[in-house]
Amino acid sequence: MEPLVRALLGARTFGRKGHGLLIAFALGAYVVLGGAAVDFGGAQVLGPLALATWALVITVRVRRKLRETSDAPLLLDVEIGALLSVALEALLVRFDGLSGRMSPALYVLVALVAAFARPLAGLLVVAWILALEAGLRIAAPGHMDVEAFATHAGFVATFALLNLTLLRAEVARIRVTARARVEAQLVRIREDARSYRLLGAGEAADREEVRSDRLARASVEEIHQSVLYALDLLRRSLDLHTAVLLWLNDSGTHLRISELSTSSNEVNDAPFAAGDGVLGAVLAKRVPVSLHGLKSTFRVPYYPGPCPVQSLAAIPVLDGETLRGVLAIDRLESRAFSTDEEEIAAQAARFCLRAIQNERVFLQLERAKVEQGKLYRAAQALGSALSEQDVVAAGVKAAREIASFDLAAVTIFDEATRSHEVVAAKSVEGKIDDLVGMRFAHNTGLVSMVVQNRCPLPYRGEYEAGHKIVLSKRLPWPSHPSLLVLPLLIHDRALGTLILGAKRRHAFGDPVRPTLEVLASHLAVSLSNARMVHKLETMATTDGLTGLSNKRAMLESAVQKIAASARFDRKLAVLMTDIDHFKKVNDTYGHDVGDVVIRGLADILKRQKRTTDLVARFGGEEFVTLCEQTDEKGAMLLAERIREELSKTTFHTPQGVLSVTCSIGVAIFPEGGSDWESLFKAADEALYVSKRSGRNRCTAWRAPARAAPTRAPRAPGKAPTKATGT
Ligand code: GH3
Ligand code: MG
Ligand code: MG
Repeated sequence: MEPLVRALLGARTFGRKGHGLLIAFALGAYVVLGGAAVDFGGAQVLGPLALATWALVITVRVRRKLRETSDAPLLLDVEIGALLSVALEALLVRFDGLSGRMSPALYVLVALVAAFARPLAGLLVVAWILALEAGLRIAAPGHMDVEAFATHAGFVATFALLNLTLLRAEVARIRVTARARVEAQLVRIREDARSYRLLGAGEAADREEVRSDRLARASVEEIHQSVLYALDLLRRSLDLHTAVLLWLNDSGTHLRISELSTSSNEVNDAPFAAGDGVLGAVLAKRVPVSLHGLKSTFRVPYYPGPCPVQSLAAIPVLDGETLRGVLAIDRLESRAFSTDEEEIAAQAARFCLRAIQNERVFLQLERAKVEQGKLYRAAQALGSALSEQDVVAAGVKAAREIASFDLAAVTIFDEATRSHEVVAAKSVEGKIDDLVGMRFAHNTGLVSMVVQNRCPLPYRGEYEAGHKIVLSKRLPWPSHPSLLVLPLLIHDRALGTLILGAKRRHAFGDPVRPTLEVLASHLAVSLSNARMVHKLETMATTDGLTGLSNKRAMLESAVQKIAASARFDRKLAVLMTDIDHFKKVNDTYGHDVGDVVIRGLADILKRQKRTTDLVARFGGEEFVTLCEQTDEKGAMLLAERIREELSKTTFHTPQGVLSVTCSIGVAIFPEGGSDWESLFKAADEALYVSKRSGRNRCTAWRAPARAAPTRAPRAPGKAPTKATGT
């Protein structure tokens, strides 16, 4: 059954997609079998039917082809070619005979298909035409002259191939020439942008710079418009032959026409040496020159042949102290330029210069606006990041908007230990990712130098892998050619560094460095805030003397742990530890020694607890330990270990060696209490029993019949002792 279904499905798909082709084949067969011949028997019925089908299908296909915005599908091209060729063959058979005078019309069709269809479709249609021709000749007895048909077929094929190759070669050639012309124009505009100092040298390599390049191009166009306007006006009002603004290249060696208004047909557009002739003198002396009565032998560099003009004036164009170019005006007749005319020309020169300066300022403002936008977004992202990790991620993301780089890392300097720590490191290929958490001593590497001097390094953002250490000798850094280590400055202090690296040369040039520096400062402030928040959070939950959790933090987790134990039907042990006769320790040895003892017990508790246990200083010299999944037996074992270790511990004080004991009360959830309050009360009651029974002991809570329901004054017990031998 399955193959049948598959065959049916296949036939349906073929019918849906290939019905156009099928119709073309059917019509072809109809023509081959004599359908188009004058004497065909069924022509009266089948003829109009075939014509109507053909007209319908070709209309639909041609309309689809015309609507197609990109390359039409191969099948569509083949269908149209096949249908057209069937129609043409039918016409030829009907009105001209198989080898009539009109048969070269086939070549026209072949040329058409080759021009408009894809190459493969063109070849398929040519094959189809040849098959049709062969079919027609075989079907009409006496028409099959193999030699003549082969020649005909050869012509059709050659015609198609020639058309195909020549047309495509021509299109490719035109495309290449046009692209070269556009490239040349772009290069010219870029050169102009550079010479007007709208673009920095070496700029325009990546996404951001391409944007800036586009802006500069618009500015160059603006400048050309303004300058052309001034020169046109000048030429008309002073009756000039030519008014031309010549601009010096970056190195000042050559002059080139920046813009010109002239009646001359011949002007030399190529750059010429700046020292040449009269213009050279104007540039050298920086003063205007006015000449008349010039001979045709006089050399004016922007005219290629003999000098067509008899008067010429040239005014140097100065941008502040810097010489930028020359404005030259000339007249065909020998009429000296008056002082007024010279002044007007000088004003025109100043106008041109101002147009350039305005565009430069506009461009700077435009760039500043863009940079500010980026920094604003960066500040917002950094401001909303609270943890150190989030801040670093936001900072690196913001840096990506400013410059493109392949790797980024952040280091933090610890003044106390004079060491650096890599807190974040990320690269596309994962080359530096395992540096996170690495520490290295303050050294002569770039990161240390940047922290020390609070200035970005290396100077030009270029990295010589062999000569410079980035982090330390032990921690190698990928040898990408571009590197920038920025200080994370807060006031005058460098918190650490932001390191960026790129495989592209000159990735961190002048256009991006200032913005990156500002970003690094934002990052520093946010990082410092995040650390402060973290510190405050720690302070709020930690006991300052012992480093253990404080009562608040403990209460929060106690409620959670009890809820979890209830849900999973597990035991939870609470140990309350209190130092015996601690008031006496304070009284005898002083508060400081008291603190040392408290810390001593805290250390014992930390050592004895399991990782899942929670120890908190509950107040004064009382500690609470919460042990998950622990029954009375386990809790009592732990309590005994704690008690024993403390009793064996000696504290060295100025007054001699001291040892203390502690009492512990143990209560178990749920027997001791089903909520925190009751459980805590049970542990406290058990502790009280320990105290009352002589101290330095551990007691597990028992139901009220045996445990004292209220707390009476504690029994005197054993006072803290001076250890023997002191
Ligand atoms: P008991 O055996 O019955 O526990 O007697 P005790 O003297 O230890 O009595 P209690 O537990 O009530 O003693 C609490 C004392 O702990 C009171 C206070 O002087 C002292 N204390 C509380 N907090 C601190 C602290 O931070 N440092 C020091 N040195 N002593 C503290
Ligand atoms: Mg006590
Ligand atoms: Mg106490």
